[in-house]
Amino acid sequence: LRMQRTSLSEVVDLTLQLAQHRLESYGVEAIVQRKLKLPSLVADPDQLKEFLMNLIMNACEAMVNGGKIFIREEAADVQGLGACACLRICDTGPGIPENVEEKAFEPFFSSKEEGTGLGLSIAKRIIMEHGGVFRLEHEEGMGACFFAALPLEEEE
Ligand code: ADP
Ligand code: MG
Repeated sequence: LRMQRTSLSEVVDLTLQLAQHRLESYGVEAIVQRKLKLPSLVADPDQLKEFLMNLIMNACEAMVNGGKIFIREEAADVQGLGACACLRICDTGPGIPENVEEKAFEPFFSSKEEGTGLGLSIAKRIIMEHGGVFRLEHEEGMGACFFAALPLEEEE
């Protein structure tokens, strides 16, 4: 990991720039919900971009007829981690079926004909390596919803 002072809000903006063509070709609109830019944290910005890119790719692949991705940023206390920079990434696709949920984070699990099944396991590993938490959530009116929290002060 190449740890450095990192703005998660900037990571979000840069990743969306990188994903722009992909989003357009899928007819998917990404909407960032941000009150203030998140406080900076010590992290590997390239890894965090890869994390987010994996989720964006999955959302696009789940929404072949277009849709929306909401990326909500917030600073919040998370149980066991203290003050965190948090991201909620939700899409308006079909969501993850219950029987897939439990396997979705396992390496090589894919419901797609040509999926590698690595996207979510890599995403999870990246957040774990940053001392954070990454999990599925359920939100009324949304398809798949993910929550990631990164501690602002990494314990030594
Ligand atoms: P892959 O994309 O190669 O299938 P991933 O690890 O990225 O592998 O995802 C694992 C599985 O989780 C997918 O095959 C799919 O069934 C499910 N999944 C992940 N993200 C979403 C999403 N946004 N909407 C619906 N299903 C999803
Ligand atoms: Mg994937």
